Amino acid sequence: MASVVVLSLLYAFSGSSQKEMHLAKQVEKIDLNLPSKPLLSYVPEQNQEQEKQWQYVTVKKGQTLSSIFDDMDLSQSLLYKIIHIDKDAKKLTKIFPGASIGFVKDATGKFEQLKYKLSETQELFVKQDGEQLLTELVELPLETTIHSAKGVITGSLFNAGKAAGLTDNMVMQLANIFAWDIDFILDIRSGDSFSLIYEKIEQDGEFIRDGKILAASFTNQGETFTAVAFDDGNGISYYNPEGRNMKKAFLRAPLNFSYISSNFNPKRFHPVQKRVKAHRGIDYAAPRGTPIYAAGDGTVTRSAYNKYNGNYVFIKHPSGIVTKYLHLTKRFVKKGVRVKQGKTIGTLGSTGMVTGPHLHYEFVLNGVHRNPRTVKLPKASPLKKSKMSEFKSYAAPILSQLDSINFDAKHIAQTKMKKTKSS
Ligand SMILES: [Zn+2]
Repeated sequence: MASVVVLSLLYAFSGSSQKEMHLAKQVEKIDLNLPSKPLLSYVPEQNQEQEKQWQYVTVKKGQTLSSIFDDMDLSQSLLYKIIHIDKDAKKLTKIFPGASIGFVKDATGKFEQLKYKLSETQELFVKQDGEQLLTELVELPLETTIHSAKGVITGSLFNAGKAAGLTDNMVMQLANIFAWDIDFILDIRSGDSFSLIYEKIEQDGEFIRDGKILAASFTNQGETFTAVAFDDGNGISYYNPEGRNMKKAFLRAPLNFSYISSNFNPKRFHPVQKRVKAHRGIDYAAPRGTPIYAAGDGTVTRSAYNKYNGNYVFIKHPSGIVTKYLHLTKRFVKKGVRVKQGKTIGTLGSTGMVTGPHLHYEFVLNGVHRNPRTVKLPKASPLKKSKMSEFKSYAAPILSQLDSINFDAKHIAQTKMKKTKSS
């Protein structure tokens, strides 16, 4: 048994200058000539805000604003007035389950304020101002923070990601960067490792969602792949340290590996061995319904059914390459259509002569079957010369940062193993 070493270290990086510049635009700095001693009567506005007793209501399924007002002991005529203030207030008529509405009432139970998040970055306030009702829209800025993580795989990639503090979505992002180099279904081994520098989108210090990966490396069976996010002027792509795009003509595994959960046991699957022909493809055992992708750009030459292949799709690609996908539950493409790499052409199944759900995948080069997981393919084209020096100077510091995470990972892994041995 391999000794279990799970690393889950998170570092907070100092904010990037880009981010600070972005914030500086939103927050205008004003120099005030304040007296050196605090004024006793001065109460910051924020404190006043905190003193208000907000009561929050989470909208339940089927609940209307009208019933919420009833529950809050607020009148229907008030509700009527509120939603007729202006078009912003009108949006309150489109509340959805799970949303939260805040209320403030005075000591006598009279309505003072209401707040409701219209979008991720906008909050609507409705305020009673004397006899009048007013609306106010408040912008809620999002903040991008930079983090790093690393892990060693001992079970599934998703478990290692979780131990490293990553969401499943972030693990998918990581795997998608290396999908042209690594077969994440069949080639992941215990001891494989990863490290990454990535963004989190936060608001008021609270996690909202994942941002993008800025740089990552993945070591698979001793071979390390490294990628850096870079905008060449046509949007962000991932490049290796030499400035070559990580995207290549063919995906290593033509299926969505996120469907293969950690408790799915591929050992339960046995392909049909008694075949007349030698087995010339790769079998991916995965749950029925797993999306199957076109491994590369091409044209569908067959999309049909027979009793051996079940539902099957063949795709013809440039340079004499044909890929074949067998035993699908459903086919989503017709003969003659052009498909882009990554297009879902069908779903995994067990049609034809099989014992269990799996994808039988073949990669044929000039009429000869090749192993799609190891076949040498042309390297992706490098960045334009005019962009290369910009890329190199951008990538150098972030790659050395990534390297230092890797170094730490090795170092800690070694010391942990030593400790386990001696104890
Ligand atoms: Zn097969």
